[in-house]
Amino acid sequence: MYAGPGVKTSPDLPVPATMKAWVLGNPGELKLTEKPVPVPKRAEVLVRIDAVAICATDLEIIDHGPPASIQGGMPFNKNFTPGHEYMGTVAALGPGVDEYRIGQRVTVEIHAGCGQCKRCREGMYTSCHNYGLNYGDVDKGHRANGFTTDGGFCEYQVNNINTLVAIPDAMSDEEATLVVTAGTAMYGLTELGGLVAGESVVVTGPGPIGLLGVAVAKALGAQPVILTGTRDNRLRIGRELGADHVVNVRNEDAVEAVKRLNGGKGVDYVVECSGAPNAVNDAVHMVNRGGKVCLAAFPHAETPVDVAHIVRNNIYLYGIRGEGKSATHRAEAFMSQKRFNATKIHTHTFALDDLPTAIRYAKERIDDAIKVVVKARGVAAHRVAAE
Ligand SMILES: [Zn+2]
Ligand SMILES: [Zn+2]
Repeated sequence: MYAGPGVKTSPDLPVPATMKAWVLGNPGELKLTEKPVPVPKRAEVLVRIDAVAICATDLEIIDHGPPASIQGGMPFNKNFTPGHEYMGTVAALGPGVDEYRIGQRVTVEIHAGCGQCKRCREGMYTSCHNYGLNYGDVDKGHRANGFTTDGGFCEYQVNNINTLVAIPDAMSDEEATLVVTAGTAMYGLTELGGLVAGESVVVTGPGPIGLLGVAVAKALGAQPVILTGTRDNRLRIGRELGADHVVNVRNEDAVEAVKRLNGGKGVDYVVECSGAPNAVNDAVHMVNRGGKVCLAAFPHAETPVDVAHIVRNNIYLYGIRGEGKSATHRAEAFMSQKRFNATKIHTHTFALDDLPTAIRYAKERIDDAIKVVVKARGVAAHRVAAE
């Protein structure tokens, strides 16, 4: 029977003692196993996972390891369950939790910082100085589900209440998995960037963060919003999400196109989501003097950068990792007010049992896959349900 000290459950939502969970074996190898359903502690709840989206970072972790860090090292063969972009229903409350109720639908952000380091105290818990120090006698209380602690490719997970975002009934499970992606773009543009209405934005690279970056920039009142990329079908979705202009960089020089589209001037912000070899140099030449470049892609090779140009032009360059300063709550507010339709980037849904197929679709972009979602219930296995 499922139970824990001070834990509240409800007969309306019975919790089993064990669950299906995918675990990472050797690089690239996922195995379906059974694990005990985890028990929430103080300030935590148990979430029944109703949907989980596959992120490019999951593919990195499954094949290469970083940025996951399990027990201070690589995540392989440690009974680790990856997956971080999930949503679900609160199924049990840890001791003293009255902020949420059993049966409530929530989506989650990834990082629960330690709460005591300098960055956590500033609200920058995605930059927690105690990242990954959450095992054995070095437990600092940091959790990043799917990175340093078990994640969402399973049926249940515990989450700190600070990582929960309540969602309205009208928001579908699939849409709710996208809140954290939109929240990442929001954090880069507002809290880290300082964007105000009327400023100009270029997004380079129409992946999920790039496309929702366009949507968030437009919802924030940016003008104009320009999207660059190589695939016309992705650029078309960018237009539907609010891009004023799109540039296919196979046909036109991206820097010249941006200047032409913005009256000969550079833009105030570039959000770099492509990871292309010359992307950082292109970005610093797309911004105007004093402009800002937010780096959201993980390139595999070291990138040459024109430092002299950055210095001469007072250009700001900053990396972004994850969502920070509760930006997910503001992204959820835009989405529940229907300021943009994030579901335009959701393309496929698979059953949890079919996770390896779902990952193949995401990785190889089969059938133009963008965001692929996996569900434990309500989806028959071995069926492709494209929307
Ligand atoms: Zn992600
Ligand atoms: Zn911290």
